[in-house]
Amino acid sequence: MKKWYLIIDIEKCGNCNNCFLSCKDEHVDNDWPGYSAPQPNRGQKWINIHGKERGQYPFIDVAYLPVPCMHCANAPCIKAAKDGAIYKRPDGIIIIDPVKAKGQKNVINACPYGAIWWNEELGVPQKCAFCAHLLDDGWMKTRCVESCPTGALSVHCVEDAEMQEIIKAEKLEVYQPEHKTSPRVYYKNLHRFTRCFIGGSVAVRVDGKDECAEGATVTIFNAANKKVSQCVTDNYGDFKFDNLEENSGKYTFQIAYAGYDTKTIEVNLKKSLYAGTIYL
Ligand code: SF4
Ligand code: SF4
Repeated sequence: MKKWYLIIDIEKCGNCNNCFLSCKDEHVDNDWPGYSAPQPNRGQKWINIHGKERGQYPFIDVAYLPVPCMHCANAPCIKAAKDGAIYKRPDGIIIIDPVKAKGQKNVINACPYGAIWWNEELGVPQKCAFCAHLLDDGWMKTRCVESCPTGALSVHCVEDAEMQEIIKAEKLEVYQPEHKTSPRVYYKNLHRFTRCFIGGSVAVRVDGKDECAEGATVTIFNAANKKVSQCVTDNYGDFKFDNLEENSGKYTFQIAYAGYDTKTIEVNLKKSLYAGTIYL
């Protein structure tokens, strides 16, 4: 049977919060019996957007990671709930039954993603229900997907085998796989949030003036002296190697530029690192 999946492209998310606001518009003060109790105006983020800044001035980038309920295939919240108050539908969507779940505050701690919120006034745990009330009414998109202006969010109702092909083709990953919950939310370009880069600027001195070394070839090697990657500096003389593991130790990069001696620099990588302006 086909199941619902959500794909989030970190590269395209600009933190506009339209997804968060459309979720509020759909759920605040709105009761969807059998699907979800009304969401309070404040205090809950069914899609929670985290931010991360990497690098050092002036070489910095920022990424945003929207985190909804992951609709896990192996969901610990289901096991923590009594009387079947949290269950998985045949289409993969995880629902908290707003009646059966009354008083079950303990399920909040069962979610490793912090995706369940407590409604103090109604005494129920709440979370993203994948807009199941709309999908069951014939909608093809959730409200957050519909409102995203950049196409960072997309939903897919596909067979598991088809999803595996999409994962491979798009190089998708799940967030924090160490929880082993088999999320149905996948991320593209997740490295922008979870991994780090080495960047730098290459310059030369011509007639006493600094000039950007556009077109220099930069090659990076790991501690075992194995080539990791290669790139060419842009018109500002900048280069950037992304998708590296934090705290992954020693790296060496070589800069080759026609008419100048090759320069070798060694760094110890802990977090994203700007090596500054390197003069040849
Ligand atoms: S993300 Fe949390 S609330 Fe959602 S299905 Fe997984 S464990 Fe349950
Ligand atoms: S609507 Fe799209 S771009 Fe805006 S914050 Fe949400 S995911 Fe990011």
